[in-house]
Amino acid sequence: MTDTTSCLSRDPANRALSAAEARERMVAEVTPIRGHEYLPVRAALGRVLAADIIAPHDVPAHDNSAMDGYAIRFDSLSAEGETRLAVVGTALAGNAFSGLVGKGQAVRIMTGAVLPAGADTVVVQEVTRTEPGAVFIPSGQRSGQNTRKAGEDLARGAVAMAAGKRIGPAELGLIASLGVAEVAVKRRLRVAFFSTGDELASIGKPLAPGEVYDSNRYTLHGLLTRLGADIIDMGVVPDRPEALEAALAEAALVADAIITTGGVSVGEADFVRDILDKLGQVSFWKLNIKPGRPMAFGKVGQAWLFGLPGNPVAVMVSYTQFALDALLRLSGVDPLPERPLLSVESAVAIKKQVGRREYLRGRVGAVDGRWQVKMVGNQGSGVLSSMSEANCFIVLAEECAGVAVGENVQVQLFEGAF
Ligand code: AMP
Ligand code: MG
Repeated sequence: MTDTTSCLSRDPANRALSAAEARERMVAEVTPIRGHEYLPVRAALGRVLAADIIAPHDVPAHDNSAMDGYAIRFDSLSAEGETRLAVVGTALAGNAFSGLVGKGQAVRIMTGAVLPAGADTVVVQEVTRTEPGAVFIPSGQRSGQNTRKAGEDLARGAVAMAAGKRIGPAELGLIASLGVAEVAVKRRLRVAFFSTGDELASIGKPLAPGEVYDSNRYTLHGLLTRLGADIIDMGVVPDRPEALEAALAEAALVADAIITTGGVSVGEADFVRDILDKLGQVSFWKLNIKPGRPMAFGKVGQAWLFGLPGNPVAVMVSYTQFALDALLRLSGVDPLPERPLLSVESAVAIKKQVGRREYLRGRVGAVDGRWQVKMVGNQGSGVLSSMSEANCFIVLAEECAGVAVGENVQVQLFEGAF
């Protein structure tokens, strides 16, 4: 394991880490879990491929037609004007024409049918005219047109899908197209999580004065279920050192990763830090971002710890911007997915303090056919309704000093991002 001692001790200036630095460090430190299992193709949706899949044959297996029309030899056609060809048979998908297409001949062919021997070109039926037993082909055809070559999707022996790929709908289809029925996938990541805070109440009972319902565990339930992890929900842990220590020790025994929320901000972090020093090696980070400034990352026993802040919106920012990629890497995903930032015109002016990266809740929508983004809801880091109303983060870079109406900003769409 690489060094995960506290940044506070390593970095005398107690400098705030940039978002990019924090993500890079986390991703660089974690190593994929071992262990895999074999699953039937459908059950592998959302799982991570544990070994390369090699194409056992060409895909497609034969040269075939991309259109409904006539399979011909290109050299049958006269350079100018129409050519009359004798129609000598029919080739259907799944029912090939077994003869040879000779010069001056054509075979009626359907999409997906094997290209008959001798033929090299397909002419779409819409441009032809027919008479009994013959077809007229206009000039202007190209040699090889409307055909699909054997192996053009995948050549036999090629790596059809590399280990580390997360299996989505396209991958399910691709695996099936190879005739492969069972795949080796990484075992599921085991993630334990709990909320910390004496003020937290469980849903289903009335709130006492000063209490708030614990929402973070529900958000995390959703995020981690979508990730495809085996989740271990450990409930609420009060702000007492013994309780926290016991919870962390228990989690570290069963989980690959532990996610906590709350208790990492200045003031609260002191007793947490003592416990984590005792149980493992954890760095406390101050990130120059908003929201989500405090975060802890490191190891407790054999488990990776992601200590997220308590504020509900900050939880989602820290998870999506930092923890998620580290969890994907732990799960065996390689390469990590790209997270595109799209440039969209801002419909509103935005105030911004230079020197930190900000993640505002925004909504991208079309106004008179043009895509624009505006902020939604109250931007407080505890206000979850803004997350629900939003469909993107507006990501403002450290050096940005504010945005004028009509200026372009970068957005990260939620759809597909977590
Ligand atoms: P903390 O980081 O523990 O200081 O918490 C920051 C803020 O987030 C406080 O207002 C907490 O009440 C709130 N908070 C912490 N944990 C949760 C939770 N699990 N659900 C809802 N709010 C929380
Ligand atoms: Mg707290």
